[in-house]
Amino acid sequence: MGGFFGVASKNDAVLDTFFGVDYHSHLGTRRAGMAAMDPELGMQRKIHKIENSPFRTKFERILDEMEGNTAIGCISDSDAQPLLIRSNHGLYAICTIGIINNNDELVNQYLSFSGGHFGAMTTTGVTGINASELVAAMIDQKSDFAEGIKFAQDKIDGTASILILKEDGKLIAARDKVGRIPVLVGKREDGYCVSFEDFAYKKLGYEDYKELGPGEIVEISADGVELLSPARKKKKICAFLWSYYGYPTSCYEGINVEIMRYRNGQIMAKRDKELGLAQDIDYVSGVPDSGTPHAIGYSNESSVPFARPFIKYTPTWPRSFMPSNQKERSRVAKMKQIPVHDLIKDKKLLFVDDSIVRGTQLRETVEFLYENGAKEVHMRSACPPIMYGCKYLNFSRATSEMELISRATIMELEGEEGFKHLDEYSDASSERGKKMRKAICEKLNFASLEFQTLEGIVEAIGLPADEVCTYCWNGKG
Ligand code: SF4
Repeated sequence: MGGFFGVASKNDAVLDTFFGVDYHSHLGTRRAGMAAMDPELGMQRKIHKIENSPFRTKFERILDEMEGNTAIGCISDSDAQPLLIRSNHGLYAICTIGIINNNDELVNQYLSFSGGHFGAMTTTGVTGINASELVAAMIDQKSDFAEGIKFAQDKIDGTASILILKEDGKLIAARDKVGRIPVLVGKREDGYCVSFEDFAYKKLGYEDYKELGPGEIVEISADGVELLSPARKKKKICAFLWSYYGYPTSCYEGINVEIMRYRNGQIMAKRDKELGLAQDIDYVSGVPDSGTPHAIGYSNESSVPFARPFIKYTPTWPRSFMPSNQKERSRVAKMKQIPVHDLIKDKKLLFVDDSIVRGTQLRETVEFLYENGAKEVHMRSACPPIMYGCKYLNFSRATSEMELISRATIMELEGEEGFKHLDEYSDASSERGKKMRKAICEKLNFASLEFQTLEGIVEAIGLPADEVCTYCWNGKG
């Protein structure tokens, strides 16, 4: 995924950008970068790896290293950025968020007429091209930034939200063409900022100015925001922003993440009640941490007390510490889970997880609960069964669709024929739906398993269904 933050101010912009980018640290773990523009010092840029230590520790000396009244920065889960580009548009720094699926085609097209080149990040094929460099190459084919960005947005199969810092000290911000991820503008008396997360600028004293619409492009200076290209009509904002990866304190489209999660849990609890499912439970719990708010909503609606039967020991484990070997990864996950025996022994527990992707980790968590004396462990997924890998964002929690537990289970039940009936498998009331749930329960040792429905999650978000991307669940993006 990734996130960006930028500031155009009458005063120094570097410190605000440093804090603003830091507040996007939950969106990526690989690279981070900042660029600032100062009339005397010119364009300055720093990029660091953040795999083993967080953004803040890597950039803590930034105030000694950079100056400027405009600055941008990003957290990236893939490429190193911001990139500095010198082109027909002058010198500029650029960072992008999203994914480009037709890299090869765009690179080959560009090379066929330009005689130019790209920095190759790997030695095989053309896929190792830095996405921001490719976006810049497309922007530079047109006479100005707005035309170039529109051209890039139209050519890209995938998603690209773009933030540019120009030599004249102005910013250009563009939201991806269907608004799959948010881009917001904040305002303070000394200038403006651009951000993925709104809480990042509110903590810095900025107020909401506007949320860019799909494909909208603006130019931002310390004095104001100029519209370069209006919003497009079609919107498909990512539903997982609310249900999983958005920060709880954030609002997208005016809808707060934490509150959406409570609503989502409430809707699941209501449905269980109507169907008479899992009505004899001692505690409702969230699979930490992302399942927790959904579980709070479930508990509030069902009047079953919320509890934390195990708590993760996090102080000494950096989030990005992820051994490559599965056995070691499981060991680390186990070491983090510390049980509260009184809340587990002889208890009937209902856990809510944000989603069930591969199920590997969940099976181990459930085993751990049974080893500690749990009587029953019921599972609820805060979203429908995941049937498709995301092709619109760099948001991948499984390396292939066949790793998804729903797909893998369907394959076991009836082979590839089953993939023609994914809608039925999603539906808990159909025979196929029941069979898939039963098979997953047996595999992962759940006493019962239910998924939030598509209608339920869309209701919890509160936007019209056709404005929300639900491709992961129903293949409709
Ligand atoms: S496919 Fe899934 S993760 Fe990707 S944008 Fe759509 S809802 Fe979000």
